[in-house]
Amino acid sequence: MGKIKIWVDEAGRWPWLWSVVACALCFNPENKPDKEFLKKITDSKKILKKNREQLYNKLIEFSRWDNPKVFFGVWVVDNYLIDEINIKEANKESMRRALVELFRKIPIDDIDSILIDWNDNYKFDELKKQAIFIIKWDSKILEIWAASIIAKVFRDKLMLTYSSLYPDLNLENHKWYGTKKHIEYLSSKNKITWIHRLTYKPIQKLLEQKPKLLLHVCCWPDATIPIVDLKDKYEIIWFWYDPNIQPKKEYDKRLDNFKKVCEIEKIDYIVWVYDIKNFFDEIKGLENTPEKWEKCTKCYDMRLKKTAELAIELWIKEWTTTLNISPHKDLDKMFKIGDKYSLKNNLEFLKIAFRKNGGFERSVDYTKKYNIYRQNYCGCIYSDTYPWGRIILNNN
Ligand code: SF4
Repeated sequence: MGKIKIWVDEAGRWPWLWSVVACALCFNPENKPDKEFLKKITDSKKILKKNREQLYNKLIEFSRWDNPKVFFGVWVVDNYLIDEINIKEANKESMRRALVELFRKIPIDDIDSILIDWNDNYKFDELKKQAIFIIKWDSKILEIWAASIIAKVFRDKLMLTYSSLYPDLNLENHKWYGTKKHIEYLSSKNKITWIHRLTYKPIQKLLEQKPKLLLHVCCWPDATIPIVDLKDKYEIIWFWYDPNIQPKKEYDKRLDNFKKVCEIEKIDYIVWVYDIKNFFDEIKGLENTPEKWEKCTKCYDMRLKKTAELAIELWIKEWTTTLNISPHKDLDKMFKIGDKYSLKNNLEFLKIAFRKNGGFERSVDYTKKYNIYRQNYCGCIYSDTYPWGRIILNNN
């Protein structure tokens, strides 16, 4: 076959997820690809995706002939090994194995040299030939470009197999380098997938952060125990959505109190609009049912639904509500509603019975200690203990 030069390139060294893929390649000196084809080969970064895939298919076809025009070996090192031995060593391993694959196809004595475009200066101990490393060869060597096309398209095709697992990663169109968008996506620990490289610094930093929790707050007294019990584990974002509270001056009093404590405790919070009409629409026809029954189920549902919608918008996986603390609330119903909105939206509703371990009593002590306003009825004008007399509607 004569003396031949082997060229090695890789794809996937810099992205924050999945594998690095190396390709070792040489053209057959006795049966080179034709000039027309070679003219089309250029730097893989400068070729349109569609054209790159066509060239890839042609290179694969050439390698399958009885007298191949192209010989190549490919090797994939996944993110687990990258995390175990670091990317530089993983890259070396992918190149070494790609070379070993190629050596199964060509006589080893025919090899003149192994050339790699970078400055890693790996020593491949078990190979007879040592590689030569030179930077920027990829600007002019056809074989490097061909190796790069194979490595890149091969990697892209395998990456696509994960698209259905992580549809919002947009793997078809995004290479997942360390972009702002990637950081935003990962800003919740729950978004880090098992194809991410966990030893990469930005990912490590995110892993060290507390996961976010979106916590629906029905009133400040009921929020005291969740903050005590969850603040060490989660970065909590408080969400106020309680259009069930009447009259408006009572709503304002509870909300002002909530904001005051959030400011003292330095807690991030979000307040939703007072869409009282929505509340009355939801419970229409059920106004006279006793507390904990149908109207209350609708009332929990309305508030939890909105919280789940916000969790999706903010990309926060874990969520729950302070409604879980009151002994006047039906926990089972609450958990079922939480699961209902979690299951269809890939969220996780924390089913914590805050009232356990004396949670309710502890919350009473807390509010007394800090002189926090504590209401004496649930919220709406149909509450059993509404102080101005329970309003009974006559449906007839
Ligand atoms: S009693 Fe409380 S939970 Fe039930 S509907 Fe009224 S505000 Fe909502």
